[in-house]
Amino acid sequence: MIVDCHTHWADCFQSRDGLDPSRWLADEARHGVTHALVLPYLGLLDDRLLRQENDDLAAVCAASAGRMIPFCTVNPFRKVEAVAEFRRAIEVLKMRGLKIHPWLQGVSINSDAMDELCEMAGHWKMPVLFHDGTPCYSLPSQAAMLARRHPKTTMVLGHCGLFEHWREAIAAMRGAENLWGCLCGPHLAALSEIVRRCDCQRLLWGSDFGFSFADVAGYRLGLLQSLRLNDSDYERITAENPKRLLGPVFSN
Ligand SMILES: [Zn+2]
Repeated sequence: MIVDCHTHWADCFQSRDGLDPSRWLADEARHGVTHALVLPYLGLLDDRLLRQENDDLAAVCAASAGRMIPFCTVNPFRKVEAVAEFRRAIEVLKMRGLKIHPWLQGVSINSDAMDELCEMAGHWKMPVLFHDGTPCYSLPSQAAMLARRHPKTTMVLGHCGLFEHWREAIAAMRGAENLWGCLCGPHLAALSEIVRRCDCQRLLWGSDFGFSFADVAGYRLGLLQSLRLNDSDYERITAENPKRLLGPVFSN
């Protein structure tokens, strides 16, 4: 079992395949990826599209025989609508978590709306996954501040700081016990430092597959394997930690 904890269902797949995930799944399966946490794309760029995209993403994942696990998005800039849409995504669409991309969405994550969304996520045991690694709204330290204010909510740095903020991501995870990190973006030397200095029980692996037809899953899985982790750490990062993060979803 390998769980890719950072993928997208983007418009390139939707315009080619409609709501049929079979070719998307085949691309991931070529690398041994058995399950994927799937994040939105268009709804992050334009909040007029996010409700439709949440619907589409739920439908695509429902057609995947349990292999694709959908995360919704909302726009925290519009608090009332954001809270209502998050509730709809959980109760009606049965989505499994919340993705916020503060940089693309143009919102600070330290806000009243985010506080309320985080409390809801904690209540429902839904992880909140952030894009991180790009100023001015998407820094790991900003996510850490939010995580410390909401200790019952599990939050994930979707990129562990990317190329320039991975040191900050290490400090952020060490300073907030409910903050996890997805190894998706930093270079090999940074990945090695993250694994060495952070709690391995809170690390995940992801590829960012699905933005385009590029074969990034093979590339990023190769990076992870280049770290030469022992078997138990590799198993934790690729399978055991995602199971703990997402709860009983894999038994479906
Ligand atoms: Zn992404």
